[in-house]
Amino acid sequence: MTLRTFAAAWRWTPGTACHICTSWQRDAVCSACRRRFRPIGHRCRCCAVSLVGLNEVCRRCILRPPAFDHALAALDYAYPWDGLVTRFKFGGACELAGPLAERMTEALQTAAAQPGFVQPDVLLPVPLSDARQRERGYNQAWELARRVGPALGIAAQARWVERVLDTPHQTGLDREARMHNLRGAFAVPAAGRAGLPGRSVAILDDVMTTGSTAQELAATLRRAGVVHVQTWVLARTVSDDAAP
Ligand SMILES: [Zn+2]
Ligand SMILES: [Zn+2]
Repeated sequence: MTLRTFAAAWRWTPGTACHICTSWQRDAVCSACRRRFRPIGHRCRCCAVSLVGLNEVCRRCILRPPAFDHALAALDYAYPWDGLVTRFKFGGACELAGPLAERMTEALQTAAAQPGFVQPDVLLPVPLSDARQRERGYNQAWELARRVGPALGIAAQARWVERVLDTPHQTGLDREARMHNLRGAFAVPAAGRAGLPGRSVAILDDVMTTGSTAQELAATLRRAGVVHVQTWVLARTVSDDAAP
């Protein structure tokens, strides 16, 4: 009996342990966990923070609109997704890129079906400095963008913007301190100067906390001639102060 006929006889299919509940099944995150931990409620149209009530824009964005036009988040940076994102970002678990990119693609496909959605011309993953990328071995934003882009039919460009200043880890810093650290962190090389003017772009990142990174990058892109900037993140912290 071959392995194939043996498997058919026992209705066995190769599977994996769900990264959340560890049940043995087909997907890296099982359908029960995807349903159970689906974000509910709605988000600020500008910065994607969770909102209660019917307001479309949060108080902070009314008082100080960000440099980007819109933000979309697939998940809350809360249990159980925070654990998966931490393993993906800091624990070397690059194999989580696929299942996390699927969550992002699903959320963006839902958003794309809504009126007012602007389809960007290009996806720009937030770049790491060369030193940080060497230390980590991969750029988690690129690992998401190179999967999400083709799924949505949008080109992802890893080299149209670069990080020229290595900022210290932002964990625990407030918005003002983060903005100060990030000033001048990004630059647009020749490929971006040729490709960006007149374009609509989406910045893609893993987590948005205060939005400082997207703010600085969006301002850099505007100076390079980009006409519409949105920010797409895998996970949004529940408030601006819950820094990962
Ligand atoms: Zn599960
Ligand atoms: Zn907001």
